[in-house]
Amino acid sequence: MIPAAFDYEVAESVGHAVSLLGEREDAKLLAGGHSLLPLLRLRAIRPSLIVDVGRLEELSYVRDAGGTVAIGALTRHQDVATAPLLQEHNPLVSYVAGLIGDPQVRHRGTIGGSLAHGDPASDLPAVLLALDGEVDVAGADGVRTVAAVDFFTGVFTTAAGPREIVTEIRVPKLGGGHVWSYLKFHRRAQDWATVGVAAVAERSNGGVSNAAIALVNMGATPVRATAAEAAWNAGEDAGAAADVGTEPPTDTNASAEFRRHLARVLVGRAILEALAG
Ligand code: FAD
Repeated sequence: MIPAAFDYEVAESVGHAVSLLGEREDAKLLAGGHSLLPLLRLRAIRPSLIVDVGRLEELSYVRDAGGTVAIGALTRHQDVATAPLLQEHNPLVSYVAGLIGDPQVRHRGTIGGSLAHGDPASDLPAVLLALDGEVDVAGADGVRTVAAVDFFTGVFTTAAGPREIVTEIRVPKLGGGHVWSYLKFHRRAQDWATVGVAAVAERSNGGVSNAAIALVNMGATPVRATAAEAAWNAGEDAGAAADVGTEPPTDTNASAEFRRHLARVLVGRAILEALAG
């Protein structure tokens, strides 16, 4: 279908984007367009103004920020996947960015768009949640920082308001003692996850500590599998506890019960893979 008519503006800076967003209540940002354009074409949304931030070079970077790696919101998935800084300090993020969609999607889609879209089936939100990352959001009152745990608020909704723009994402540097894995079950190659698992922990006294496990598509937002984390820290069967406290959806890809099964299997496998790596 052809999208409903809209006005189109190209933002020349973050400040300009914020000011354009302030002009219309229903204005929408356009980054890589790989989630927005399908919604426009389905006429699921009909914004009267599109603010194109896709050319804001100032938001495309991967930088060393001391204890963290800072990633500009307009950094394309392909650039996240191949950034040497991430490959060295947080290979979980670069590995997962390289699993998103196909080469065309990875060369257009951005990390900021992926997070701001708030799709519980997306890969990077769960990774950010497992890593306790942070998101910077700019609006008329300046920039505020939102912890990953507070950022994802529901299906297609986040803590970023309609007049705000996500500007930067920060993830911790993982030391040499960290182990990690990301596993995703999908029915077709290059598709969204039916269920995905991001797992990270520190090796400690023959086991692990500070285990973090986040699940894709096991609720309205990415969710931490806290019972499985506790079990992994204790050297117990984390897979068996993977779906505790989750509310997975039933849709055309899988029933809620099958998703629970997938979560239990994938968490067990992710832990084995992390420890083997
Ligand atoms: P856009 O589509 O431009 O925007 C998406 C939403 O976020 C819009 O509401 C927009 O207004 C808002 N937005 C964008 N940037 C910002 C910002 N900086 N601040 C605030 N709001 C912003 N994703 C996966 O995780 N895994 C997959 O396997 C996967 N497969 C895909 C396969 C196909 C065929 C396609 C088309 C997409 C796939 N995606 C997948 C989604 C892809 O990663 C998208 O690129 C991503 O979800 C959105 O990023 P974008 O830059 O394209 O955002």
